Amino acid sequence: MKRLQPRSFAACLLAGLLAFGAHHTSAQTAAAPAASAATGKTELLWLGQASFRIKTPGGKTIVVDPWLTGGPKTPAPYKTDISALGKVDLLLVTHAHVDHIGDAPDLAKMHNTKLYGPADMVTPLITLGVLPADLGHRFNKTGSVKPLPGIKVTAVQAEHSSLLVWKNPATNKNESHPAGEAVGYIIELENGFKIWHMGDTGLFGDMKFITERYKPDLVLMPIGGNFTMAPDDAAFAARNWIQPKMVIPMHYNSNPLTPGTLAEFQDAMKGSSVKVVPMTEGQSVEF
Ligand SMILES: [Zn+2]
Repeated sequence: MKRLQPRSFAACLLAGLLAFGAHHTSAQTAAAPAASAATGKTELLWLGQASFRIKTPGGKTIVVDPWLTGGPKTPAPYKTDISALGKVDLLLVTHAHVDHIGDAPDLAKMHNTKLYGPADMVTPLITLGVLPADLGHRFNKTGSVKPLPGIKVTAVQAEHSSLLVWKNPATNKNESHPAGEAVGYIIELENGFKIWHMGDTGLFGDMKFITERYKPDLVLMPIGGNFTMAPDDAAFAARNWIQPKMVIPMHYNSNPLTPGTLAEFQDAMKGSSVKVVPMTEGQSVEF
């Protein structure tokens, strides 16, 4: 059902706000890892840092940047049992840094599902033997794929880097491997709702272009600073350039080198019509 697509952006905005408003009061804690069924709703679970599980209106499960067993803020039961995510239908990784690639290769093998990521990150995963070749899908800083019925994923620019650190079992030492360039993803769900997972990124002017071209409804936005946008830069982009219906801040509260806080971001967003949806690790929202 492409509910939103044929309508004007203004109508979409209104419908989305109404739908979200009705829902947000019922934000709940982590859902049970049961098999997904088509519910017509989207459920988004924050697993800490940039890691999210999205249950789509059509009943599919998308996981992005699953840093679970190593994440300091990963909620139970996922920190000790990655199978608790339930069946993973689509696995997206924005870049090779450990707090993003995390448990993705293990999830790909566990669910026999492809890991989608920047081509030059997926290639070393395959050549090093971390990922079977048939479980890697290589695309790059542009390009769309339709990995599941009614779901479209487009890779977009992120201003960041990507390096794979791999422990060589023959030497038991860490090795650094070039791993392409970081990306963000526009994830369009079965109902036309578009989520922009920015990955790690600094502020860049083509956020305006990406907004004009893809019109995201919800943006998952890093605010921690140091490696990514800090709260003031993230708020600048959200208020002035992107103006989505909703923003969920991420990539903070997990590392002393990312000192940006939710409170700083909320302060910087005061007076904006963009709805900031604060989450805690392990919380899910439904809309
Ligand atoms: Zn990174």
